[in-house]
Amino acid sequence: MADAAFQRCINPACGAEFDCGQAIFKCPRCGDLLDAQYDWDRVAVPGRLSDFGRRWATRDNRLDLSGVWRFRELLDFCPDEQKVTIGEGQTILQQNCAIAEHLGMKPDALHLQYEGLNPSGSFKDNGMTAAFSHAMMVGATSCACASTGNTSASVALYAHSCGLKCTVFIGSGRIAFGKLSQAMDYGAQTIQIAGDFDDCMRQVQAVCTELGLYLLNSLNPFRLEGQKTIMYRIIEALGWEAPDWIVVPGGNLGNSSAFGKAFLELKQLGLIDRIPRLAIINATGANTLYDLYERQGVRWNQGHIDRAKIDAHYAKLDAENYKAHTIASAIEIGRPVNLKKAIRALEICSGVVREVSDEDIMEHKAMVGRFGFGCEPASAASVAGLHLLLKEGVIAPSESVACVLTGHLLKDPDATVAYHTGINMKKATPPPVEEPKGELANRPIQVADNLDSICRVLESHTPTVARDQAPAFPSIAPLVIEH
Ligand SMILES: [Zn+2]
Repeated sequence: MADAAFQRCINPACGAEFDCGQAIFKCPRCGDLLDAQYDWDRVAVPGRLSDFGRRWATRDNRLDLSGVWRFRELLDFCPDEQKVTIGEGQTILQQNCAIAEHLGMKPDALHLQYEGLNPSGSFKDNGMTAAFSHAMMVGATSCACASTGNTSASVALYAHSCGLKCTVFIGSGRIAFGKLSQAMDYGAQTIQIAGDFDDCMRQVQAVCTELGLYLLNSLNPFRLEGQKTIMYRIIEALGWEAPDWIVVPGGNLGNSSAFGKAFLELKQLGLIDRIPRLAIINATGANTLYDLYERQGVRWNQGHIDRAKIDAHYAKLDAENYKAHTIASAIEIGRPVNLKKAIRALEICSGVVREVSDEDIMEHKAMVGRFGFGCEPASAASVAGLHLLLKEGVIAPSESVACVLTGHLLKDPDATVAYHTGINMKKATPPPVEEPKGELANRPIQVADNLDSICRVLESHTPTVARDQAPAFPSIAPLVIEH
């Protein structure tokens, strides 16, 4: 019953409603964000979450194969025939005992949700399958987005799969090469403007209004509907039980917003009895949410958010000509468009916000790489944030935690190579080499083309400890040059 869905302005003083056949993205009456909402009495939602598990047996149906659409009654805004899918959401929740023990948790307490396993290599596909379905529903022929990288890759892939013209806006020099290569390869028209993500975001909204393009940033409420399913899959993987904590990196705050909405709806529908707590982790160089929520105490306050504090924060950034800066380029965002929805999610989930340094992000990224499937820098902010919250005693060692790893390791190979070797590919040609400083740096050993030399090197190095018996993180031997 897709016609049971509608859009509603999140501002309680406005509350304007619109049907889902409109592509408006912001409330035309007051300019605030919009939610997709449902008249749940008219939606055939299963009586128990575990009922969705039956669809694993009917995966020859394209919608049951999708890790998003197999939960379709919980995002029922679009007729089935207009749903676009490329098999997204085949992601896993990995219990990671080695990292849990290293962080001082109970071995079975930590789970990593690998969203990098999506077709375009990041969580964005969860949202794009939903937003492109809406684009089909409203008859869009051309679309655009601003991107730090992962959005452009995902948009380009979905646009290609459903025949939409596609333009992506990226900032100058701030995009990881893995992501840029995807946008180009999938055939997106890529516009690089002289500015950062926040500048791109401002321009793309204006261009979409001016030229009538379909906007695919997380301002789009239908994208967030798709991103809710990351939480359904975590619950599914835990035997249809919610964990105690969800830890997620905070950038444009679409995920955080979607997760809070997902849990609120599940609770209201009686499908879960308890809402997990939410920890959103900013990078210190892009910490707008941390500053406003933790330092200045800005709260949802039934929708009456202290707008003056937010405006003052942005005015200060402007006055200082401040630009967000972090190695975690996916969350290098100073003006998160979903700020208010994320603050609402923090209210729903009794949430906390923390900030972590680039050094902490890279150390924890290396940890996930060594003892997991690997992830891009922004993803590791979640594990670094978990570590901090354990040290603070906010999260107890026995509490079950799911850290969302948003993007694949290969999204940003430069950051990984720089961490392990000290070679910074972005700085100069030839790139400067510095001694790698990371605890887990794993530099290639240079050896002469000579069997004796090679054997001597192999004999003199302790092999890496096997994964299942790894009590701590072994130090890697320094660079050896044999002549
Ligand atoms: Zn409004």
